Amino acid sequence: MDPDPASGFESGFESGRHPRSSDASPRHDGWVQPILTARSVRKVYRTGLQEVEALRCIDVDLRPGEFVTIMGPSGHGKTTLLNCLSGLDEIDEGTVTLDGQDVHRQSDAKRTAQRADRMGFVFQNFNLLPVFSAVENAELPLLAKGTRPKEARSQALAMLGRVGLEHRARHRPAEMSGGEQQRVAIARALVARPAIVWADEPTGNLDSHNAAEILRVLHEVNAEGQAVVLVTHDRAIGLSGQRMLLVRDGRITFDGRPSDAPR
Ligand code: ADP
Ligand code: MG
Repeated sequence: MDPDPASGFESGFESGRHPRSSDASPRHDGWVQPILTARSVRKVYRTGLQEVEALRCIDVDLRPGEFVTIMGPSGHGKTTLLNCLSGLDEIDEGTVTLDGQDVHRQSDAKRTAQRADRMGFVFQNFNLLPVFSAVENAELPLLAKGTRPKEARSQALAMLGRVGLEHRARHRPAEMSGGEQQRVAIARALVARPAIVWADEPTGNLDSHNAAEILRVLHEVNAEGQAVVLVTHDRAIGLSGQRMLLVRDGRITFDGRPSDAPR
């Protein structure tokens, strides 16, 4: 599949609430079963006497294989949205359903297992374990899933090769550049072939070469069927997805084709 936005591929999935009649091909119709469904999600941060309503009444569906970008001003709830949809963070109201399971109403153990099985994460600050080498970091999700160590090692090395870092496999994070560390983090996020990859400003701290490399890999795995949800401040990156969400004041104010998004 061609991930090039210019090919028209970006015209694919739309929010289930706003199906577009022009999307006639079977893979792009509005009836593909969502993998994740959020309804009336509300999230409040309480610190001392202060309350911040970080998410208000979020309704969103994510379908298998979508490439969704999230844009919006700083402090308006993008990270909170990712963390609440993925189950990393608790919510105050509403529901998030993944594969038919209510994410926030299952036991911690079940939620953790579902996350390990179905999701990969990339953060702005890499979050690699400093005492582990690149390959040891990259193989962690497989070991957590119970993959045999030899198999995990070989898959992690293959994934490092895919991000162009086979030669850095034995290096620790401190011995690598920021761009290399983020590519290790990408390898870790992708190694277990998760159905959903959550990426929170993964290129925010990187030079353009490393940013492009990371975007290339994300589009590549997306073309293989993995859903990608990517927060970015870079409009060009935002436009490279099939669908864009704009987040403002804790609400989704736009959900549609990136080319239709207001600036
Ligand atoms: P964005 O990712 O769009 O920059 P965030 O989701 O990080 O925005 O933050 C949304 C709002 O929630 C902001 O007002 C922020 O200050 C607040 N917030 C985020 N995390 C916390 C927290 N752990 N405790 C209290 N307030 C928080
Ligand atoms: Mg953020």
